[in-house]
Amino acid sequence: MPRINVERIEQDIIAISHFGRQESDRGVYRQGFSQADMEARQWLRDQFERLGMAHSMDGAGNVIGRYGPEDKPAIIIGSHLDSVPAGGMFDGVLGVAAGLEVVRALHEKGITPDFPIEVIATSEEEGRFGGMLGAQAMTGHLTREWLETACDEHGYPLKDAMEAAGLEPFDALHAYRRPEEIRAFLELHVEQGPVLDTEKLTIGIVEGISGVFKWNCRLIGKADHAGTAPMDMRSDAFMGIADFAHEIQRIIDEEGTDKSRITIGHVALKPGFPHTVPGEADFTIVGRDLDEDVMRALANACRRVLSSIARKHKLKFEYEEMSWLKPAYCDEGMVQMIEQKTKELDYSYKVMPSGAGHDVQFFCGHTRTGLIFVPSVGGVSHAPDEWTHWSDIERGAQLLLECVMELAREKVPA
Ligand SMILES: [Zn+2]
Repeated sequence: MPRINVERIEQDIIAISHFGRQESDRGVYRQGFSQADMEARQWLRDQFERLGMAHSMDGAGNVIGRYGPEDKPAIIIGSHLDSVPAGGMFDGVLGVAAGLEVVRALHEKGITPDFPIEVIATSEEEGRFGGMLGAQAMTGHLTREWLETACDEHGYPLKDAMEAAGLEPFDALHAYRRPEEIRAFLELHVEQGPVLDTEKLTIGIVEGISGVFKWNCRLIGKADHAGTAPMDMRSDAFMGIADFAHEIQRIIDEEGTDKSRITIGHVALKPGFPHTVPGEADFTIVGRDLDEDVMRALANACRRVLSSIARKHKLKFEYEEMSWLKPAYCDEGMVQMIEQKTKELDYSYKVMPSGAGHDVQFFCGHTRTGLIFVPSVGGVSHAPDEWTHWSDIERGAQLLLECVMELAREKVPA
């Protein structure tokens, strides 16, 4: 049985971390299509070259190295190479480095799989331009119109960024891969949350990516002098938010599951002056669950509760639904196979949802998908302090290798 060499993964992750690293805060700045991002992609192609793999960059900027026979559907493994500003060294990179090591481990044992393995570094996963460009392009979730209009938060167009990186923007539409060209898509990623680390588990087997809804809400009351307006004669918009915040746990207890999340992430009070009763409160609600019916029940309960709170405080409640993303489910057979392999390796694990979005969600419904987590120490991610123990990385990568070998066996039906 081929074995993962974690020292090589460590070397690669450290090598990649130098692309876009800033010494001042030790953060990685490798935003999609930046110079650092493109240099890291070239570095990866050089590694494919050394291993004798066929490699290419598609029109969306995805870098793909191929190992194995030419004319069969591919087992795609990997993740993304771009980062958020001031990101950590493991997010995305782990899946790419582990994918590379899987091929190296097979190659050094002289094993050629029955089905080709494609190691991928997807492009623009972190949403600098508001999507997951690489994965969307490969799975047909991309439109010409979106390519034409997408901008980053500073108003810089995606088209310009792609051109500056040497890509022809509309070539992204040629990156589409038909389902029959893909045997499976399997991603290894850091959890980016505290669950595995807190519960002292090594492996998270993801059953699906939670759906997300986002509301922009407004409670409108009356701005008054904070000294002259008696407490019982106010329409204080902030009091409405405060009451609602206390209701969130009850809403989840009554309507949700242990996978439900409701977050007020942004609040702006108007006029926002210390000596004025806030006459308006603008805030966001983001809700998540792995079941769309539960998402709907949570949303309905939020609406009911906010309406009744508004009445109590003499406020007006308004909201707009900004987005509603359905949950995406990993393939049940893949989840079972990963669980079986995890048991054979005697690693501790749990089956869990992913609250964060990942490339894999666009491949759900397009091909068989799987997503494996390893622990993030303290749950830290999207920050320079992001850390995962090398011993956990070794196990995650070994599991990835054994899953890939299982998928590459002819007898598994595609
Ligand atoms: Zn990521």
